[in-house]
This record gives sequence, structure tokens and C-alpha cells, in this order.
Amino acid sequence: MDKLGGTPLKTQTNPPSPRFSSAGIEAARQQCLALYGARRPLAHIHSYGCQQNVSDGEKIKGMLAEIGYDFTERREEADLVIYNTCAVREHAEQKLYGNVGALKGYKAKNPGMVIGLCGCMMQQKPVQERIRRSYPFVDLIFGTHALQNFPQNLCEVLRGRQGSPARVFDAEEGENVIVEGMPVRRDGSVKAWVPIMYGCDNFCSYCVVPLVRGREVSRRPEDVVAEVRGLVEAGYKEITLLGQNVNSYGKGLDEPCDFADLLARICRIPGDFWVRFMTSHPKDITHKLLDLIAREEKLCSHIHLPVQSGSDRVLREMNRHYDRAGYLEKIAYAKAVIPGVTFTSDIIVGFPGESEEEFLQTVDLVREVGYASLFIFIFSPRPGTRAAGMEDPVPAAEKSRWFAQLQEVQRAIGSARFAGLVGQTLRVLVDGPGKQPGQMTGRDEHGTVVVFAGEEGLGGQFVQVKITEAQNWAVAGELV
Ligand code: SF4
Repeated sequence: MDKLGGTPLKTQTNPPSPRFSSAGIEAARQQCLALYGARRPLAHIHSYGCQQNVSDGEKIKGMLAEIGYDFTERREEADLVIYNTCAVREHAEQKLYGNVGALKGYKAKNPGMVIGLCGCMMQQKPVQERIRRSYPFVDLIFGTHALQNFPQNLCEVLRGRQGSPARVFDAEEGENVIVEGMPVRRDGSVKAWVPIMYGCDNFCSYCVVPLVRGREVSRRPEDVVAEVRGLVEAGYKEITLLGQNVNSYGKGLDEPCDFADLLARICRIPGDFWVRFMTSHPKDITHKLLDLIAREEKLCSHIHLPVQSGSDRVLREMNRHYDRAGYLEKIAYAKAVIPGVTFTSDIIVGFPGESEEEFLQTVDLVREVGYASLFIFIFSPRPGTRAAGMEDPVPAAEKSRWFAQLQEVQRAIGSARFAGLVGQTLRVLVDGPGKQPGQMTGRDEHGTVVVFAGEEGLGGQFVQVKITEAQNWAVAGELV
């Protein structure tokens, strides 16, 4: 019984996640001292692909900074080069192999160079085999599930430098394990990325992500809120919550907490800051979430909601679990409750077997929604996915024509939107100097690029800008 005589409330909590151990950092630091003496070695880290990868890259940099590395943009002068790879598109993979091949020459001139590869591509067995066989100068491979082992693995490679060369491969398949407290070295001081979950359970037929990143697991809400609170207190003004499908956040937590609940808790953190999130799956976005965006000033009124196709048949083949009408119902609801809401989206053109008529259904949907911007991709078959085995009679030239046609449609929609902004006053978070002397650039809550005349000291601040001109990729205005 509680003091008021009622039944005590049952409180559920989520068991704490394992904490990152700094033992590997210390061991790697000792190895660095033995190898490089008083000189701080240089690392060059490059992340390909999505923001999740960029966020992982920030953790790698965080661990390296604690080990004692400085960073360089010039890979040729680096003691350690790490490419954090992306498996989502074939083009990115081919580019990666080209870039890794180029490192052979640098290593010939600098035999002490350590080369590491990590990220989604390294979770794929055929890729591991290819690297093992054809790229003997690569010293270290680690997959997305082994990020927390990086310091120990690096230490082992460095130890090998003093005797026989050691190659370390740590890319086994496995469950996603959340490790809290990993060091992070963020790329900026105004905008921060905060992963709230890892993996994906959706198995869209074209997508390799569930095969390489594993099943969904969510961070505890208290850990996410604590990280965001720390960032806001450190002066960050824009927080982007990351997950492959943020709308299904909360699966497996002992304490019930869905994505809207998490956002509501984040919005209660004191301070003047914006919150964004990506990526949303249309099947899981709820009216509860849209109502929250309508109420909460800290939540940007911009939603990235990838539709992929406007054809019901293609959506079924993609295994997306929504149809055109269901998608448009959510868009209509959001437009009704959130004043000025904008949408962006991803679209795949040339999915196997897509007809011209089905493509035109996508064009029609794009016009109906009126997206602020689109990421348009030509279908790229990924090994191991269902779509890779589908018959694909559409010629590449046809796909390219559709791609250009959709780009043109979107360009016209974007221009009309920009023209409509002239005369409005926008709240803008200033990124920094623009291309012209005396010019500053920033973005509004919808991601619109805004340029204006202003002092460099405005970087990282919110300002009001009255829009006077629509340009091709930005709008221009004057400080109010
Ligand atoms: S929701 Fe679909 S497209 Fe997005 S990561 Fe998961 S499987 Fe891939």
C-alpha cells in the first residue's frame, strides 16, 4: 500500500546495457607509445553511406582520440586509414574497391601504414573473402557488430608491427548488442546524430540492411535522453535521432516506450533546440506521433517518409507493407494537423518489372504530395536480397529516362515551393560562412538552405531571415 492507501504502482525499468570497457583503449595506447614514441600518430577516417555510418565513424574517431591519434584529411600522410563502408548500392561498393586498391601505392611508400575496413560491406562473407584473398595489404576488418572491439583489434595489429605482421578479421554475424558509453568525437559542435536503435526487421525485398546490420534493438530511453541532455547542455542546437526505422522504436524494452513517448521525453529537456529524426517507415508512423509533432515546438515540422513507389503492385513486390492509399492517408492527416509540414522521400525507379504506367503512378504521387525534395535512385540489385533474383526486363536506358523525368518533375515542385517562400520570415539555424564573402548560410526546420548577409559570429545560432529571392538550390534573404 502507498501513503494514499492505493495499490503501489508497478514501475518497470529496462535492465542497463553493458558499458564500454576502456581496457582496450589503454592497451592500444601503450602499443602506440611503443611504436610512435612521443609523436601522435595520424588517422584518416572516411565513412561512406548513411548517417548511421557517419555516427559509427564518430565513435571510431572517439576511440582513436582517446588512444592518442590526431586526424588528417590526407590519407597519404596517415599512419592509420579506415574506410567505413556501405553495402546499400553497388556503385558505392565498386568505388570502395577502387579506393582500397589505391591505398596499396601509399602503403608501398609508407610500409608502416595500417589499413582497416569496417561497416556494412564487411559483414558480408563474400566481401571478407575477396579482401582476404585479393587485398593482402589490408590489416584489419571489423563488422558493424564488432565496433566496441575496435581498440583491442587495433592493438593486436599494432603489436604485430613489432614482430610478424598481424591481420585481424572480426566480422562474425550475430545479434546486435547495445554498448553504452563509447567515446564519440563529433564532426560538429551545433548538430549531433544520436542513434536510438540498431538493425531492421523489415526485409524490404531490395534492401541488404537487415542482412548486414541484424535485427532491431532499441537503446533504453533513459540512455537516449541522457545523451541528448548532455548535448543540449554542451550547446548543440539540432539533434537528429537515427534508426533504420525509428517508428518501430521500443521493441523488446521492458518498460513500454514507443517512439512518440521517447520524443515527448526528449522535448521536456530544457533549452532552445530542434529535434529531427530519420528514417521513418510509412507503415509504422502513427497519428500519435503526428499529433505530437503538431504540439511540440522542438520537433521540426519536416518528415522524411520514404515512399519508394506510387504503384501498389511494385510496393507489394518491394515488401513494403503499405499501399498508395495508406501512405497518402498519413500524408493527408499530417498536413491537416501540422501547419506547414513538409515531406521528403526516397524513390527507386526501375524496380524489376516496373512498367511505364507504374512509373507514371509514382510521378502522380510525387505531384500529389508535393515533396520539399527527393532522393531518387535507379534500382541496384544487392546480392542476397529477393529483388536481386527477380526478372528485370526494363532496359537501363529506360530507367535513366525515368530517373531524369522524375528529377525534372521534382525540380519544378521545388522551384514553386521556393518562390512561395519569398516574403516569409524563416527561423534559420546558421551553419557558417557561405560561398560569397560576407555571406552566411543555414537551414530552416524543413531543411531549406537559406543564404543571407551576416557576421561569421552568427554560426550555430538561431536567427530570423526574411526571404527576398528564390534561387536554384537555396533561398536568399535578409536578417530581421
Ligand atoms: S525498412 Fe526496408 S529499406 Fe529501410 S533498412 Fe529496413 S529493409 Fe532496408
